[in-house]
Amino acid sequence: MTSPIKIGISACLIGQPVRYDGEDQRNAMILDTLGRHAQLVPVCPETECGLGVPRETMHLVEEQGVIRLLTTESGLEHTEKLLAWSRDKISELKKKNLAGFILKSRSPSCGVRSTKIFDDKGGQTATGPGLFARCLQQAFPELPLAEEEELRDHTFYTNFLNKLGIRTTAE
Ligand code: SF4
Repeated sequence: MTSPIKIGISACLIGQPVRYDGEDQRNAMILDTLGRHAQLVPVCPETECGLGVPRETMHLVEEQGVIRLLTTESGLEHTEKLLAWSRDKISELKKKNLAGFILKSRSPSCGVRSTKIFDDKGGQTATGPGLFARCLQQAFPELPLAEEEELRDHTFYTNFLNKLGIRTTAE
């Protein structure tokens, strides 16, 4: 019997209460469809790097071409903490032979394409990847990545499944 493929996933999407407010973002569609075809490997960059639950909300701020992870009220910087943890985590993930990764949209750590980037005056200047997602992209340029909101689109979802090599009749 062959082992199921492994897909990395933001831990809040499988129901782990790791969000800044102690809540989760359980996604029944992912669990009920992809969860039946693959072993989901949960990862929460913010709690696993030691920021704890609950924690202050954070956002990405670009200053002189450098993107920093800052708390939204007190302005504390967690960039290096998150990046150092990401480097170690990626070494660990390289041994897991992941087929793909599903990440939480718009998160300053997990978002792939939709995370807001602000200037130092608080104006939004762009959207892009969160810090952990950017490290993933750099370490695994061929790894299929999806944000959970992108999977609501049937064409995107079907293409993602094809990239993972999953055949399913689920709509
Ligand atoms: S979006 Fe990422 S960092 Fe935020 S709670 Fe979910 S898994 Fe953790």
